[in-house]
Amino acid sequence: MHDSSALYALLGGTFDPIHFGHLKPAEALARHVGLRKVTLMPNNVPPHRQQPEASVSQRLAMIRLAIAQRPLFDIDERELRRDAPSYTIDTLRALRAERGLRQPLAFIIGQDSLLTLPSWHGGYRLLDYCHLLVCQRPGYNQQMKTSEDRQWLQQHQVTDYAQLHQKPAGCIYIARTPLIDISATEIRQRRHRGESCDDLLPAQVAAFMDREGLYRDLHGA
Ligand code: ATP
Repeated sequence: MHDSSALYALLGGTFDPIHFGHLKPAEALARHVGLRKVTLMPNNVPPHRQQPEASVSQRLAMIRLAIAQRPLFDIDERELRRDAPSYTIDTLRALRAERGLRQPLAFIIGQDSLLTLPSWHGGYRLLDYCHLLVCQRPGYNQQMKTSEDRQWLQQHQVTDYAQLHQKPAGCIYIARTPLIDISATEIRQRRHRGESCDDLLPAQVAAFMDREGLYRDLHGA
């Protein structure tokens, strides 16, 4: 059974692989706004987009290893279990239906995702189902592109995080999380060059990548 009054927060991503840029900002955010759990939700990637290098089971295994000693986190595998990739808004709509209209729900994103969010399927309407909790990310502290986007942000942004607990959805909170300059792309590239990534992700994940020979094959590149 879940606690239907506590703020429930999800962090969606490809996690190819999971790294400290996912974990550390989320941990800081949880301490700051008072999240008991952060649920990691790995996604299926639509066929027309570049596919993850790791398989679904490898991405999942890496997440499990990364959170084994981190009780803040758990995993929601629903998007991986579906045959087809799902839009974030559809998943959030389903979660809202499961958890009822009153429970505060939040979707955690990095600043890079906030900048692109208006072009996501459903875009602005994500806020009908959840709050957006935004973690800072180096290189992405920019204004939103269009005046419509900036207005949307202004209308929904809150600076008092108490509102995230009081309302079920509809707020954007940009948190002062630590700036962690890591991306999964950089990790894959470093591994392709045969360089170490030990400082970028949990040791158990690095050991798994070594055992599986992950991100070594350049596919003829
Ligand atoms: P890639 O380099 O393959 O695009 P990524 O490192 O951006 O991957 P994703 O799995 O695509 O990782 O990201 C999932 C979510 O985590 C996104 O909302 C993204 O903005 C956020 N995120 C990823 N890395 C960081 C970081 N270093 N700091 C803050 N947020 C991050």
